[in-house]
Amino acid sequence: MLKRKLKITFISLIFISLAITSCVYFYTLKNNQKSQEQVSNTVETYDKIAYLTFDDGPSNNTEKILDILDKYNIKATFFVVGPSYKLKNDLLVKIVQAGHQLAIHSYEHDYSYIYSSKENYLKDFYKCLNWIKKVTGITPAIYRFPGGSSNTIASKALIKSIIQELNEKGFVHADWNVDTLDSYVKNEPSKVLSNAITSLKRNENNKHYYQTVLMHDDIHKPATTAALPSLIEKLLSYNYHFEPLTSSSHIIKHVKV
Ligand SMILES: [Zn+2]
Repeated sequence: MLKRKLKITFISLIFISLAITSCVYFYTLKNNQKSQEQVSNTVETYDKIAYLTFDDGPSNNTEKILDILDKYNIKATFFVVGPSYKLKNDLLVKIVQAGHQLAIHSYEHDYSYIYSSKENYLKDFYKCLNWIKKVTGITPAIYRFPGGSSNTIASKALIKSIIQELNEKGFVHADWNVDTLDSYVKNEPSKVLSNAITSLKRNENNKHYYQTVLMHDDIHKPATTAALPSLIEKLLSYNYHFEPLTSSSHIIKHVKV
């Protein structure tokens, strides 16, 4: 009789523990799902930032770009190039007045000169900086190497030594992680868009939600302006919001020191 009672108690205990284990299992599963939902919601709603950047302007395209950005109430970053003349100077001022970020690219934009020595690079850099300062009163803190810091013209040692010197002076170089390749597809806005989306998807697959988009402000690259509204719409549909680049942004650097 006692043996039978013990047997029943033992079997009941097994059932009770099985029931508890499955309750705990389903509770944990549900909670995990919940927290995963929260993570993806957070990423989609708060942490997706697109930094639109335009190199090589100001140009006869600048006003078109400014109009499009204004329509969407977006602030972007312009990596500008000299030389100084009235139209360019007026456009520099317009970029600032519209609330965008001015950044240094190059005064001459002549690869063979600027990458021939550190001294020549810095001469050109400060010429560009002083021009911006004189025309707008602004001293930009961000710069972009022509061709990016990973360009194939300059040696890595030269780039690193320039970065180091300018770092010490408080300047920050910025590259990109979304390439529209707009330099190569002059009359095909749809390609500018699809190139950007391909880059962006690759970044998102690597859980990278800060997109620095490389484009050009150049009258000879009309596809950029033509593609810009659809690119903005696409980014908005992916829940990105737009910010100009500052020293405290999530800055992409192809070469670090
Ligand atoms: Zn350039």
